[in-house]
Amino acid sequence: AAKDGGRGRYHFYSNDLHSAAEERSKVEEDLRDAIANGSLELFYQPVVCSHDDTIAGFEALLRWNHPTRGWLSPSKFIHIAEDTGLISAIGEWAIRTACNDLAQWPENIRCAVNVSPVQFSNPQLPSIITNAVARSGIAPSRLELEITESVFLNDDEGTDAMFTALKRVGVRLALDDFGTGYSSLGYLKKAPFDKIKIDQSFVRGATEPGSRNGAIITSITSLAKALGMDTTAEGVETLDELDLVRKLGCSHVQGYIYSKAVNTTAIARLLASGPQMKAQGYRSARGPRQTM
Ligand code: C2E
Ligand code: MG
Ligand code: MG
Ligand code: MG
Repeated sequence: AAKDGGRGRYHFYSNDLHSAAEERSKVEEDLRDAIANGSLELFYQPVVCSHDDTIAGFEALLRWNHPTRGWLSPSKFIHIAEDTGLISAIGEWAIRTACNDLAQWPENIRCAVNVSPVQFSNPQLPSIITNAVARSGIAPSRLELEITESVFLNDDEGTDAMFTALKRVGVRLALDDFGTGYSSLGYLKKAPFDKIKIDQSFVRGATEPGSRNGAIITSITSLAKALGMDTTAEGVETLDELDLVRKLGCSHVQGYIYSKAVNTTAIARLLASGPQMKAQGYRSARGPRQTM
């Protein structure tokens, strides 16, 4: 019965499939093949330093090149991967792939990988990461794990132990989508985050008159600074938004204003062209979105 509420989410394949359950098992089957036949790919989106527009690193974002549906974004399949446990294999593959790609890039470049709460509750995660880091030869501090507040939902000794173990591995930790979940300052007290990622819902509309978002962003950045953490503003699209999040103290910026997530060939070309990114303006403040 718990799945009934999610029925609408699975309108993914053709409508002649009778049930959400059938549709899900089709996605599941295709996803199993995807892992085996290499049709999953990591794309990378630049994360840019606020003060000088240089590339600090990238966030790895999963894409699925489906045999009949074309490129699919994670919102179409991550929840199914999580429900079926396939996320463990996908997540491990993503960590290994990101480490191997990092090994091809300059040493000052970091890379963030999203970690599902399902992976986070697997006691094997620290050793999976240790192995991936060792095999690729990268410094562990170049790898950043993005974790959402939902890992604190079943907050227990296991959660604390996982944070301790991950810090011992030497990777960085980022709190993703901050402000959208059960945001509690208690998380910031107990968990050793290196970065807070301010969710794009706070950036969007922040430049509108009367918006409360700017005050919220300001309080997050000053809190982060006091705790010695970086902040990334997510989803920055316009020059006005960029000016604002800089002014409000975000140390890093990520968004279509610089680039969407692109494949490794495009990343190699980008890095070869120098450390600087150019803010392009994905859409104007009022107008419709431009195609890039
Ligand atoms: P996220 O980690 O918060 O990633 C940021 C999302 O915002 C990405 O969507 C990115 O493409 C999008 N984005 C970035 N800049 C802009 C912008 O300026 N405007 C707009 N409108 N959107 C922007 P994407 O790639 O579709 O990923 C969605 C979510 O799927 C991610 O949210 C993350 O939670 C999850 N995800 C992606 N890759 C993985 C993965 O490898 N493992 C796991 N467990 N989850 C993943
Ligand atoms: Mg993320
Ligand atoms: Mg996010
Ligand atoms: Mg998100």
